[in-house]
Amino acid sequence: MFERVSAAPADPILGLTEAFKADDRPNKINLGVGIYKNEAGQTPVLATVKMAEKRLLENEATKSYLSIEGNPAYGKEVQKLLFGADSEIVASQRGFTAQSPGGTGALHNAAEFAYNHLGVRTVWVSNPTWANHGNIFKALGLEVKAYDYYNAETKDLDFDAMLTSLEQVAEGDLVLFHGCCHNPTGIDPTQAQWEQLATLTAAKKALPLFDFAYQGFATGVEEDAAGLRIFAKQIKELLVASSFSKNFGLYNERVGAFTLVAADKEQGATAFSQVKAGIRANYSNPPSHGAAVVTTILQDAELKAQWVAEVAEMRERIKEMRDLFVATLAAKGATGDYSFIQRQNGMFSFSGLSKEQVQTLKEQHGVYIVGSGRISVAGMTKDNMEALCAAIAAVV
Ligand code: PLP
Repeated sequence: MFERVSAAPADPILGLTEAFKADDRPNKINLGVGIYKNEAGQTPVLATVKMAEKRLLENEATKSYLSIEGNPAYGKEVQKLLFGADSEIVASQRGFTAQSPGGTGALHNAAEFAYNHLGVRTVWVSNPTWANHGNIFKALGLEVKAYDYYNAETKDLDFDAMLTSLEQVAEGDLVLFHGCCHNPTGIDPTQAQWEQLATLTAAKKALPLFDFAYQGFATGVEEDAAGLRIFAKQIKELLVASSFSKNFGLYNERVGAFTLVAADKEQGATAFSQVKAGIRANYSNPPSHGAAVVTTILQDAELKAQWVAEVAEMRERIKEMRDLFVATLAAKGATGDYSFIQRQNGMFSFSGLSKEQVQTLKEQHGVYIVGSGRISVAGMTKDNMEALCAAIAAVV
């Protein structure tokens, strides 16, 4: 039967990494996939992760299965991180968390629950958004609609257009928001705008789904949850997909969390029983190691403080690269004003480079950027900056 199957298109982001690996030019630069790199161009294991792993290795007594939703201590720590340690949601136990295989798995958990048990058929995502959102939702049978987000001229959030398109949301639709560090634009709503978005979402009786993959990469671990916490104050029911791939550097351990917040503990427990039934049929129960590392760090005040500092170090290095990138582009005589890059949050910069310019950068200069013009700033170093900016200046 297999001869009838046609080949799937290469993943636009992971396919780029394959092409990069196959390129034998020594000075090639990969600014495609969103992976943090340090000044030496490496993606090291965080010191706190190493410490937690050492403890786990010494103390781990069994490899027996976890429960369907994973370790309850992990769920509690995730909720404290999302809503604050003294949050009413944590105190009243109306939040329910499943340990999931990465943020992707958490988004799948959320969409599956919404489709199968809430009758949701439409999900709204920003235009543009992370390339995999469409894949995840469409695979589950949801129709994906886009709301306006980005103004290519001002290189800023088009908030009026965003509100106008969200006016089209129907009761019971799912609306996806990026918790912070919007991927790919790096532009987040302000607190006042989050308030307005929450009011509108509540008025539309839509279900918000927060995709929270970069907590700590914009301003700080607590600060970055401001939008979500504003929503949680105004809206009693919401869903969150957390990823710890970036902020704990646990990419290949697949650590994420799906959190369901209900109006009260009883309703939440009933709804969550269906989430668990879905997980049982899907991957039965989650992998343990990565979440055990996260739990070990978050439960220990000293390790947690050290982790917060490690996240700050990653965040600050990216900010430093943004400044240096803008300055070096100017020094190389690149046409245009690039100061908007300093206003963006997180790993990515939506550069405004065209598809053709991206293609030329790859072919003639060995610089790999996603077709949308999204640049992973985390892939820049002081060493590759001159060559990178000279190449960009040559194509713009
Ligand atoms: N959501 C967004 C916006 C992302 O950028 C990513 C990863 O790149 C994810 C979710 C998924 O993260 P994970 O690798 O944990 O599945």
